[in-house]
Amino acid sequence: MKTFFRVFFGVLFSCAILAAAVFGIAGGAELLFDIVSSNEASVNNAGDEKKPVILLDPGHGGMDGGAVGIGGITEKDLNLDLAKKLGEKLTAEGFSVVLTRSTDTLLTYDGASSAKNADLRARLKIAEESGDCLFISVHMNKFSDSSVKGITLYHSPNNPEGLKLAEAIMAKVKETLQPENKRPIKAADSSLYILHRTTKPAVLVECGFLSNAYEAALLADDGYRDRLADLLKDAIVGYTDTSSEK
Ligand SMILES: [Zn+2]
Repeated sequence: MKTFFRVFFGVLFSCAILAAAVFGIAGGAELLFDIVSSNEASVNNAGDEKKPVILLDPGHGGMDGGAVGIGGITEKDLNLDLAKKLGEKLTAEGFSVVLTRSTDTLLTYDGASSAKNADLRARLKIAEESGDCLFISVHMNKFSDSSVKGITLYHSPNNPEGLKLAEAIMAKVKETLQPENKRPIKAADSSLYILHRTTKPAVLVECGFLSNAYEAALLADDGYRDRLADLLKDAIVGYTDTSSEK
């Protein structure tokens, strides 16, 4: 039976942030990122039903730009572009892919204490209601010491598969892009709202440091983001092939 989800979000104006999003995630969609309106989540649900749904979560959005890099590049835009690239590659591999946001917006959630809290609660709700899925949040990092660089991974502490997926991604990172990467994979603490709370296998990928000139230039490059998307796709394919053999 096709997975069938429907999540509605109202409209909230708070802390100078206005965001409105309506999600309709339904079986039978044939187009990748079948965007009905600018505020709808993008969906491809034409994938192999034996594979987990891949929930891609481009961090931030709308008035929440996330980290701002050297040269003024904004994390939220890079996150979204990378998630879309990855989504297309995973769809080509037969996965159903859902993006928590496909436009430059924050999500809304009635009764939340702030627009940012509403956004995080809405994303968590999508994950928790998505059945057999892998949740992959995409972010870019920033740090006061501009020499710090490298991909950093966090995993959900409530599902052991999160760590396994993170390990599969880090193995690809070292194999393809950053053989020198020694950054440890960390369990998400309460500062990472979604990962800390979700029961799903979840990984947060900090794709690099926008505060590092070298890495910021790479992350701003379309071709580099395409390589990142390939790396993540290969890791997810490898992980799901392995886990389905058990
Ligand atoms: Zn971020």
